[in-house]
This record gives sequence, C-alpha cells and structure tokens, in this order.
Amino acid sequence: MRIVLLGPPGAGKGTQAAILTDYYKVLHLATGDLLREEVAKASELGLKAKGYMEKGELAPDELVIDMVINKLNSPEAEKGFILDGFPRNVAQAEAFGKRLAEKSINLDNVIYLETSEDIIVKRLTGRRICRACGAVYHVVNIPPKVKGVCDKCGGELYQRKDDTIETIKNRLKVYNQQTAALIDYYKKEDKLFMVSGDVDTRELFTKLQEYFKKQNII
Ligand code: AMP
Repeated sequence: MRIVLLGPPGAGKGTQAAILTDYYKVLHLATGDLLREEVAKASELGLKAKGYMEKGELAPDELVIDMVINKLNSPEAEKGFILDGFPRNVAQAEAFGKRLAEKSINLDNVIYLETSEDIIVKRLTGRRICRACGAVYHVVNIPPKVKGVCDKCGGELYQRKDDTIETIKNRLKVYNQQTAALIDYYKKEDKLFMVSGDVDTRELFTKLQEYFKKQNII
C-alpha cells in the first residue's frame, strides 16, 4: 500500500491515516507531526520550520522533502506507507515522483478528501490532542470522558497553536493557493480517487476499505 491522503486541513487526513495504518500495518508518515516533533526538540530543522507553522504557512520545500525521503528510505517504509500532509505543492509532488521513479516504486493512489469549509472550521477549532499519546478528540464530536484528560492514557489534552480561527483561515488560503493544484496534477496521472471528507470517521474508513479491496491495494 502506497497512498497519499490529500485534502484541506481538517479534512480528516490524520484521523484516517491513523486508522488505516493500524489496520493495514503500514507506515503513517505525517509531515506536520514530524515537524512538530522537531519544533519540540528545538532542533535546527524545528527552529527553521517553527515560524512558518505558527503562521499557517508552508515550511520550505527542501526541509520537508529531505525529511520525507529519509523516512521513505527507512526499513519502516518497506511494507508500504500512507502520506498525510505531503506533498503540499507541485514542487514537492515532482520531487517525490522523481524519487519514487528512481527507486522503481509506484504510487497506488492519491485519495482526495473533499471537505466543506464550515465543517473544517468546526472540526479544527474544537480539536484537542493528547500531549502524551497523540490521540485526537473534539470538544463536541468526540469529547473525552473527563475534560482535558485523555481517555486512553490520562495525558493532558491541548489545542494546537495553529488551530485558532485566524491561522485556520490562513491555512485554508495556503491550501487553495498551493495544495489544491495537486488535485489536477494527480488527476492527470490517473491516480486520484475523490471521496467526501464531510462524513464521519467510521463511514469514511469503510468506504476506503471497500475501495482498496476493489483496487487490490493491500
Ligand atoms: P498539518 O499537521 O499537516 O496540518 O501541518 C501543520 C503545519 O506544518 C503546516 O501548516 C505547515 O506549516 C507545516 N507542514 C506540514 N506538512 C508540510 C509540507 N508538506 N510542506 C510544508 N509545510 C508543511
């Protein structure tokens, strides 16, 4: 299984990628998560990316592309991968495609989660994440049993700094200006499968499972 999940912030890419990678036992490669880890470590890469992330802008391509290629070269990626949040523009898609071709690897599909803006804003402003295990909650849709506490591990729940309304607006602008072009890019490569991201997590997972089965993607 070699899949890219494409869609605006809040489309459910991270949630689906987590469920799918657990089910299919492939690598979940989320560039946003990797970058946040680097920021938390205050590494050179993290320090370079931090300002962009806080504003909802894209981090420079060279930082992200090298990071992804290194992960794809690791043994963890051998069984397959689901990319979540990468590529984010045409330059990244081209660099990624070139790298896959060099390794004679074929991308199975790009799943585009088409999602409406009012749903995105509601999902992102209500999103809370566990600091310890990364589990994702929503203050209305998936509330934890105890406010602010993770059901799974007891960790503290926090709100991402870029999940505020102003930064969400900018992330959507950046998505429309830079990332949405990848819909046509992958349509031309005949790789795109479009599905609604407005439905709930379980329904979307079932749809994707059925699709992968039909396509013989395992
Ligand atoms: P995400 O967790 O996917 O919403 O990403 C959070 C932030 O990380 C984005 O707003 C960007 O600043 C940065 N980021 C994540 N993936 C990429 C990427 N492929 N290229 C550039 N910046 C990225």
